[in-house]
Amino acid sequence: MLRIYNTLSGKKEVVKLKNGKAIQLFVCGPTVYDSSHLGHARTYITFDVIAKYLKEKWFDVFYLQNITDIDDKIIQRAREKETTPEKIARKFEKTYLQDMKSLRVNSVTKYARATDHIKEIIEQVKTLVKKGFAYQIADGVYYDISKFKNYGKLSRRTALQAEDAVSRIDESKEKRNKGDFCLWKFSREGEPKWSSPWGQGRPGWHIEDTAITQKFFGAQYDMHGGGKDLVFPHHEAEIAQMEAISSKSPMVKYWIHTGSLTVNGKKMSKSLGNFIIIQDFIKQHPARILRFLVIKSLYRSPTDYKEESIAQAKKELARIDEFVARLSKVNHKLKKGHNLTLTAERAFETAMEDDFNTPKAVAVVFDLINRQNALIDKDLLNKADAEDILKFLKKIDRVLGFIFWPKVKEKIPQEVIALAKERGKQRKENNWQKADEIRKKITELGWQIEDTKTGSRLKKL
Ligand code: AMP
Repeated sequence: MLRIYNTLSGKKEVVKLKNGKAIQLFVCGPTVYDSSHLGHARTYITFDVIAKYLKEKWFDVFYLQNITDIDDKIIQRAREKETTPEKIARKFEKTYLQDMKSLRVNSVTKYARATDHIKEIIEQVKTLVKKGFAYQIADGVYYDISKFKNYGKLSRRTALQAEDAVSRIDESKEKRNKGDFCLWKFSREGEPKWSSPWGQGRPGWHIEDTAITQKFFGAQYDMHGGGKDLVFPHHEAEIAQMEAISSKSPMVKYWIHTGSLTVNGKKMSKSLGNFIIIQDFIKQHPARILRFLVIKSLYRSPTDYKEESIAQAKKELARIDEFVARLSKVNHKLKKGHNLTLTAERAFETAMEDDFNTPKAVAVVFDLINRQNALIDKDLLNKADAEDILKFLKKIDRVLGFIFWPKVKEKIPQEVIALAKERGKQRKENNWQKADEIRKKITELGWQIEDTKTGSRLKKL
């Protein structure tokens, strides 16, 4: 029985969905004006695991994500770089997708750009104006929050607070209420623009998501996710828009929010300047470490990023690799096996069914490793058991995605290649002492040279 903490009710609920139909999951995608940082990685790795677990355990999943490719921040960045907003958006969309690939985040069924849905956005704004929920002033069309009686039902508030760093509520003296947000913004000179019944302009931030979800899922769907910082006003605004348009409630059955990745207790963010971009992290450490670090923490709690955790994670992953290598070598044909996968499988499921408790799921893996290692030490594991355990690990790795990681071939530095050549030459000339000295130098550079019948081979130490 899967239980999820639903932000809408403020408690863990047993998930009840229609059988035989794909689960509809929508997660807010990035605003593509810069490289993504580790905070983004936390949110998107989390939803990758959630989508994969739902797929493994339940039925099919249609995982939809938008890409905000038109926004003030993109326009501002284009100005700074003396280029067009479109070029900025395409460049950072590409890097975002590459980052996701490096982290093995590959469960999204459809990425939908805001600019590909202008027609749907205009239709929604038109309906809101017609139904009296929206009004036009000098700089755009705004949503009147006083007209939607349930405004605040998700976040249990209706006004901004200091931590709402990503509010993007446009300020205008003519607004009816302080919290009214822009649906359609009139474009200024040189800004991207599309024609609309109210004049040339571009969409506000909140309306793109409901236009996209209505197109793919309809007015009501199963699950919506994002970082906690989006609950207010972004997700509140989405509810106000969609439920006003369709007169159907709730727009979403289960709201799932990730806790922030923090640095010294403060949210990792561009505006605070305390961020590490994903590309910089993976230049220094395997991407696998980042995926593992995210999964080791409880998705709903804030997690502080610490350099020390990296060394610990490396050790733990090495332990997994060592165990997998050991299992592959077990060759006994003992009659009575000692296979503990059944208990582990149950424990894994229990952890995941309890609001995707991945730290507990990871603990199950290490507990299995400890117990099975003790049996291998005593020669009490047979080949069939070992194969079963590998099968189990492969199965849960379809969700976790950090246990089996393809080995990345390390590029051999030119200096090492040159030394290896020189050593070969010295050996041919029987200068063994010189050859040995060169071998030492190669070792000091972190490489090992192995001599085989067919020649020498370099290996990273
Ligand atoms: P943005 O591009 O800033 O709109 O963010 C895209 C997604 O990443 C949203 O769901 C944010 O909530 C999430 N996000 C941004 N920063 C962090 C962070 N420090 N920790 C966790 N999630 C974050």
